[in-house]
Amino acid sequence: MHLDSYKHKGLRIKLIELLRSKGIDNEGVLKAINKVPRHLFLDNAFVKFAYQDQAFPIGANQTISQPFTVAFQSQLLDAKRGQKVLEIGTGSGFQSCVLMELGLKVFSIERHRSLHQSAKKQLEGMGYFPRLFFGDGYQGLATFAPFDRILITAAAPYIPEALKSQLKLGGKMVIPLGEGDKQEMQRITKVSETEFNIERFGDFSFVPMLQDKSFGKTQ
Ligand code: SAH
Repeated sequence: MHLDSYKHKGLRIKLIELLRSKGIDNEGVLKAINKVPRHLFLDNAFVKFAYQDQAFPIGANQTISQPFTVAFQSQLLDAKRGQKVLEIGTGSGFQSCVLMELGLKVFSIERHRSLHQSAKKQLEGMGYFPRLFFGDGYQGLATFAPFDRILITAAAPYIPEALKSQLKLGGKMVIPLGEGDKQEMQRITKVSETEFNIERFGDFSFVPMLQDKSFGKTQ
């Protein structure tokens, strides 16, 4: 089902109003989310829930993030059109589309080959062409560094060193930090090669950012 419709557009407008009522006030972010047909990312069984503010399974034990979380992280990213952003955890590809709609140059890494492949196919079908990579987010993408922004969409137990070094001076990283059920949303600004300013934005719940010694062999 690759069709958008007036019904879906209407549901999206309601979702945008809900996000607004939950405190999202960046008009650019709200507009970007309003442009991406979220129902096209969900299994058929869940299509009718696509515009509720909930996370949903997307296979491989992973989820498409709750719209509020996508909106909140996109807003914290505070990116300007044309900037280069690295996303860790492509998942369904929904967040990548929102970043594209914000006018960013999007690079995104996913460690599940099946999710990487299905997101690529899905996004191409919708006319979105971010740079999608199958790989390990802990390594980042040295070849394409530095990045103006880095957005981590899985729970990170610590801030990966490679990602710190791939961030531009003055650049910002949005990262849900912590293991277990809850993570603290942090925004980290690189103020010098060795200094980072940390801002904290409350608790969220993400699937873990996995470390896998045998990466690439089994997935
Ligand atoms: N941004 C996604 C939501 C992602 S859920 C969306 O819009 O749908 C988190 C994703 O991070 C999962 O797909 C998971 O497989 C991926 N992930 C977990 N650990 C990772 C790692 N080390 N490197 C890259 N991706 C990882």
